Amino acid sequence: MHNSITLKSLRVSRRSLALLAAILCLLSLPSGLAAQRRERVVDSWRPIHYDVALTLNDQLNEISAARTEITLEVLAANLTKVDLDFGEMPIDAVTVSGSPARFERRPDMLDIILARTARRGDKLSLTITYHGRPKDGLIFAKDRDGKPSATGDNWPNRVHQWIPCFDHPSAKATVTFTVAAPPRELVVANGKFVTMTRNGNAPTLWKFDETKPIPAYCMVIAVSEGVKIDANEPTVTPLAYYVPQKDAAYAPKGFAPAAPALAFFSQTVAPYPYEKLALIIGTTRFGGMENSSAIVFASTLFEPRGNDKMSQRFGIPMRIEDVVAHEIAHQWFGDSVTESTWADLWLSEGFATYFAGLFIEKHESEEAFREYMGGAATRYFNYEQQRNAPIHDTETQNLMKLLNANNYEKGAWVLHMLRKRIGDEAFFKGLRDYYKAHRDANATTEDLRGALEKSSGKNLKEFFARWIYGAGHPRYQLEWGSTERRAGASLTVELKQLQDGEAFLDPVPIEFTVNGQKKIETIYPKGKLTRVSIRLDASPTSAVIDPDGTLLKEVVARP
Ligand SMILES: [Zn+2]
Repeated sequence: MHNSITLKSLRVSRRSLALLAAILCLLSLPSGLAAQRRERVVDSWRPIHYDVALTLNDQLNEISAARTEITLEVLAANLTKVDLDFGEMPIDAVTVSGSPARFERRPDMLDIILARTARRGDKLSLTITYHGRPKDGLIFAKDRDGKPSATGDNWPNRVHQWIPCFDHPSAKATVTFTVAAPPRELVVANGKFVTMTRNGNAPTLWKFDETKPIPAYCMVIAVSEGVKIDANEPTVTPLAYYVPQKDAAYAPKGFAPAAPALAFFSQTVAPYPYEKLALIIGTTRFGGMENSSAIVFASTLFEPRGNDKMSQRFGIPMRIEDVVAHEIAHQWFGDSVTESTWADLWLSEGFATYFAGLFIEKHESEEAFREYMGGAATRYFNYEQQRNAPIHDTETQNLMKLLNANNYEKGAWVLHMLRKRIGDEAFFKGLRDYYKAHRDANATTEDLRGALEKSSGKNLKEFFARWIYGAGHPRYQLEWGSTERRAGASLTVELKQLQDGEAFLDPVPIEFTVNGQKKIETIYPKGKLTRVSIRLDASPTSAVIDPDGTLLKEVVARP
């Protein structure tokens, strides 16, 4: 998603007991040691498919009837109960393979007791019938026209407030939505539109089918009295905008970057992963939320702001181009190739941030791209002053706090540095191979490292250790002095790294101006202080560290 909106209402973690235990554990640890975050990754069973049927009431403020059928595969040798994530909605019935089943509720959990022990490889079908108003996940709110609407907004683990599920990114599954809504409403959900059946004044029945496994946090519906506008330009997938009446006139212009972004990412990475793309103006606590094939943008997306910097290419605010490209990039990175754990979140957010930058590089200018990356660096430096921690974060308990400049801005810079280190050809080939290997599945940071090492033939272990598993950034200071000789100048260069912590061993290009000519010399640091002698034609008049911005760095002037 896009973190352009300040998050105010943070919800209590679904695992409040585990969190409490973790805090108690933290208090009892010697200072300096933080508790590891506990994540429930796929363990004893995995979901294969969710068949979700929802009936919305006429006022659109409640689910009057819901039925979720879960097809799952047993992974444990023996399984006596299925532990689902589920919130507080009242349950009417539970069945296992058609027979009524016993169940127990815990905070944010629903345990379904199996009458017969299931064995590894068994496929089970569970049906949960329930109703009510979810406390989160499916948001009932007035849209920009003042009309009632319902929009799914699940990240990171709020979908279980309205769909019983395995609420972790490692548990990807396909999903079918059948939504019964008042006849005046327009409905959209993930995947292919199947049918819409009108029943006079009775609710209209809408069916959508997502045939690719997607993360639970991406499973959404959006219901409103808005309009659907089909994009009237050639696209790689059916593209439509779902917007309030108020935004209908501006939507084709505001969403103009969508078709070129789809084309650019398809060419650069792989064919678009889903059946269609809906761009929805709805309700989300984020600037945009990348739900697979049904992206939701904040209702204020098209509202003008005083200081909007405008796109040369599209004539719209740059921030709209950025967020549209960012959420579309997520369809490949985040949705199709999903982070295996929350510690790998940068594989989603860093990629979406960088690919939005690449889109700007292609469709605006090299200068606009530099500005974009420069802004990212500044935001990261500011963040680091508050918190200096690795991108690969296994400690932060509040998942909302992972929406930080480490995962977004520094993650994007890590990709940019890798691109500059191994070159465009190996970089993009490595990303394509990585995508292909993990499409419709999950990936880890190590999977990415492996793919880029293979495509480049370079060992990237030290780079990943320092930039992903280590914290901070280099703060370089350069000192140089030269002695004129008959055949040129002998230059002594001293490159210091002033940051706390370990040295960064990345090669550092330095541009010297000699007799009015620019000349790049590369220094290969071995530690926090590197001294080298360089021969030049004459004494340089100036020296600039990394003039092309290939490193996330600060340069500290000599005292
Ligand atoms: Zn994002």
